Amino acid sequence: MSRFWSDIVGQLTPYVPGEQPRLNRLVKLNTNEHPYPPSPAVLQAIAAVSGDELRRYPDPESSDLKRAFAQRHGLQPGQVFLGNGSDEVLAHVFQALLRHEAPLLFPDVTYSFYPVWSELYGVNCRAVPLATDYSVDPGDYSAGSGAIILPNPNAPTGMLLPLEGIRQLLVRNPDAVVVIDEAYIDFGGQSAVRLIPEFDNLLVVQTLSKSRSLAGLRVGVAMGSAQLVEGLERVKNSFNSYPLDILAQRAALAALEDEAYFQEANQRVIASRERLVAALQGMGFSVLPSAANFVMASHQRKEASELFAALRERGIIVRYFHQPRIDNYLRITVGTDAQCDELLAALAELLA
Ligand SMILES: *Cc1c(COP(=O)(O)O)cnc(C)c1O
Repeated sequence: MSRFWSDIVGQLTPYVPGEQPRLNRLVKLNTNEHPYPPSPAVLQAIAAVSGDELRRYPDPESSDLKRAFAQRHGLQPGQVFLGNGSDEVLAHVFQALLRHEAPLLFPDVTYSFYPVWSELYGVNCRAVPLATDYSVDPGDYSAGSGAIILPNPNAPTGMLLPLEGIRQLLVRNPDAVVVIDEAYIDFGGQSAVRLIPEFDNLLVVQTLSKSRSLAGLRVGVAMGSAQLVEGLERVKNSFNSYPLDILAQRAALAALEDEAYFQEANQRVIASRERLVAALQGMGFSVLPSAANFVMASHQRKEASELFAALRERGIIVRYFHQPRIDNYLRITVGTDAQCDELLAALAELLA
């Protein structure tokens, strides 16, 4: 507490990101980063930026990148909004589109940044319990909600709501903005972007951090009707005109253009995930069905909190949430097969 703080600052409960330890020898499976580097074209694009380009301000609209996203998804550039990571995009979404008299609904087990932004921007919100099998039931998000937000696949469960379920949410709530946070959609789901022409209340948020191996670059995107995007642009242009620097704009464009690399790298992660799931199940873990680049696993005999601490001592970092309903689960990012093998060997020892 400081007497110089604004009133709201002392009341905030900030989001706590997964740790980024400095030690190199760690097997780091805690923040859902991609195990493989980005396309080589990304590094070439960064190296090709000139001193003169760095001297100047970047394009405030990131026009080339906007056009590339629009083209990829069959949209107009005016239906695309870009920000400094999808966390920034989502923050603007909360402020611009989710604050209404009726409550914003999101699952009780979900991305833990949602309640943080709700508090920051004074958004009235309500958590809707997931079903007992941790799935999202669209019927639970009844009419009368002010807005809806959920990750698909959900985080940290990794479970996918099929496109038909998203459609039900949109049909049942025509007067509420429905935000689908697709941070993990490229690891096994169908994007809801294809529903945008049908529903003016749909906003789809994606990121280059997970499936494009660019968490360090900070590029996120929202796509929806031109009216929703205009609302976001108004907030962005009242906050920071230049959220994407020149390196980010060029590198993201290069990443989008290398479709073959993107497909192959993600197929490898999916194959490693299936292999990891089978091995965990063989050791007595129950694993939630994952369409993401991480899995949620719970062991019959051994407490997740104990396993988490013991793995950490061995230099293997996973994520543990001390939270109702998931406090006996470990969230494990899918690494390379070699990293997964190190994890599995350590678990075998701990369970012996
Ligand atoms: C990782 C993640 C984000 C944030 O991604 P950035 O683009 O790196 O800010 C947003 N939503 C969910 C559900 C995530 O897991």
